[in-house]
Amino acid sequence: MFGVIDGTGFEVIDPAFEACLIGHARVERLWTGARWVEGPVWFAAGRYLLFSDIPNNRIMRFDETDGSVSVFREPSNNANGHTVDRQGRLVSCEHLTRRVTRTEFDGSITVIADRFEGKRLNSPNDVIVKSDGTIWFTDPSYGILMDYEGERAESEIGACHVYRVEPETGHITIVADDYVKPNGLAFSPDESVLYIADTGITHTPGGPAHIRGHHVAADGSLSGGQVVADCSNGVFDGFRTDRAGRIWSSAADGVHCLAPDGTLIGKILIPEMVSNVCFGGPKLNRLFITGTTSLYSVYLNVNGVSPV
Ligand code: MG
Repeated sequence: MFGVIDGTGFEVIDPAFEACLIGHARVERLWTGARWVEGPVWFAAGRYLLFSDIPNNRIMRFDETDGSVSVFREPSNNANGHTVDRQGRLVSCEHLTRRVTRTEFDGSITVIADRFEGKRLNSPNDVIVKSDGTIWFTDPSYGILMDYEGERAESEIGACHVYRVEPETGHITIVADDYVKPNGLAFSPDESVLYIADTGITHTPGGPAHIRGHHVAADGSLSGGQVVADCSNGVFDGFRTDRAGRIWSSAADGVHCLAPDGTLIGKILIPEMVSNVCFGGPKLNRLFITGTTSLYSVYLNVNGVSPV
């Protein structure tokens, strides 16, 4: 666990990236044995991380107090992305049941969204909660394209959108309808910008493999939406921002660190394709990385945006 793992390391592209690193800190492989890990989410009060193993239909739990990994929920309805809301509750995207849910303090499950205008969602992929409590999620079709990460089905909506839900009323709104396969999403530290990844190239030759940035109005509507960065290796799937506004994103060769203007300044090299990341640890300076079969982490000289 604490040795140097083959294929890991750091690639400094801009000297600014060196300030993000701790000289002697190395990438650790915390656990392996999954088929496709995704959706890392940190629970500060309990000092544990949950993450999905989508094809194996389970959510795993890494306990920071002793390094153990156990099954948190099985079956998980092929859960994918997760976040925590402002009350500390787990919010999850489920492929099989094509819905976004919240796990209440008593363990019961509340459906946050499963339809738009009467039509079933495709397969919610990733989710975030804004400081006002609104829930934002992407709905590409990966979970209904085949049986491996969900169940094959036709799209009822016929397109892949980004949605916002008001938790009190359940009212659901499309906030972006011009994506091919919307995927990871994150706010800038002050929530003035919403970044959304489009992984459309996975099923559309020449399609998008980029992150776009939208200005967020007070009423939750979006404007702008220009491309911030194109992925130079694979796709940007899931990502998080740090307090300086940098974007830490998954890619085929590891984690790409983008300056707030989208410039690639460095990489954390991982020997497996990375799907997502999140900051954790008491100081949110430990980056957890989900990479295909394994969970990795590395301590950085940066801090994630609280509380996720
Ligand atoms: Mg994703």
